[in-house]
Amino acid sequence: MNYLALANPGVDKLHPYQPGKPVEELERELGITNSIKLASNENPLGLGPKARAAIERALPELARYPDANGFALKSALAKKLGVDTEQLILGNGSNELIDLVYHTFVNAEHEIVYSQYTFIVYALATQSHGAKATVVPAKNLGHDLEAMAAAITERTKLVCITNPNNPTGTFLTKSELSTFLAKVPRQVLVILDEAYTEYVSEEERHPSIDWLAQYPNLIVSRTFSKAYGLAGLRVGYMVAHPELISVLNRVREPFNCNSLALAAAEAALDDEAYLEEAVSLNRREMARYEQFFDKQGLRYVKSQANFITLDLQRDASGVYEALLREGVIVRPIAGYGLPSCLRISIGLEHENQRCIAAIEKVLSQGV
Ligand SMILES: *Cc1c(COP(=O)(O)O)cnc(C)c1O
Repeated sequence: MNYLALANPGVDKLHPYQPGKPVEELERELGITNSIKLASNENPLGLGPKARAAIERALPELARYPDANGFALKSALAKKLGVDTEQLILGNGSNELIDLVYHTFVNAEHEIVYSQYTFIVYALATQSHGAKATVVPAKNLGHDLEAMAAAITERTKLVCITNPNNPTGTFLTKSELSTFLAKVPRQVLVILDEAYTEYVSEEERHPSIDWLAQYPNLIVSRTFSKAYGLAGLRVGYMVAHPELISVLNRVREPFNCNSLALAAAEAALDDEAYLEEAVSLNRREMARYEQFFDKQGLRYVKSQANFITLDLQRDASGVYEALLREGVIVRPIAGYGLPSCLRISIGLEHENQRCIAAIEKVLSQGV
């Protein structure tokens, strides 16, 4: 039986998302131990103390359904961001919410504008909804907003922007973004994916939440998976016009965020010490990689996120494989169209030292 032929249009062209290699898988395959994973932009500090305590407090209630409206977490977010709870929607990771925007608004008649070398989920969702992808060539490995604005047509339903960008770490300034938003027609939705925004310094961070009042077509997307250290629990949120959110809520599954995720995210939001440590560790350790790459004359993309992309200017798969044999898992991004690059998530000090030593060793061996 040809199940693909039974599937919706576009599904035949999809490939499953390729996650970073899990440590257990590598160790099973190579029969090694003590390997490290710097491949999925996870928070190397692990679960924060306040989130952990909240999870423990929530355990006895697990036989019950979660709060379908996420009242407590939304209230905490609303207070922190200075928005109304009606402007917020919670998701099982922000990835689910990106899909929800597509389910709600996108069909095969539509064009979706996004940049070359950006988060692969936009390409996957565009494909699976049978919509047409308008992929705008990157500028210096980041978004070319002028070209993206020019690519909008009558059929464009949605523009997706990632800032800082994944997998390159490039960053758009406030003025670039606000100039762009002013050009986008009101009936075209814009997802501004800010999964890494907490790592950006406050002076540089764009005031996306303030822009919501001016741009009713803007959807700001954030996550607890990165700086808040809750990737395994799956919780993200979007902020937008209350009427846009209420349309999304018609399509959302009622209990899409689980009880532990809701409790942990609320506690993580209140754990400023953890967030500060995550951000300052990231800044210190990013500098370690930059210094090493500079010293070695290796090319890299200047990053505002929690990873750094090394460009070997030749096929990087041999180096990736050799690093695996050293017990260091980084992320090849050939699937993003960057076969010469490896994306390295910033880890703990000893992990980064080990990764750097492994790169040095592998390159010195002429791999
Ligand atoms: C990691 C990441 C996300 C977060 O996904 P979750 O589903 O919230 O874990 C979203 N957007 C980008 C660009 C990312 O890199």
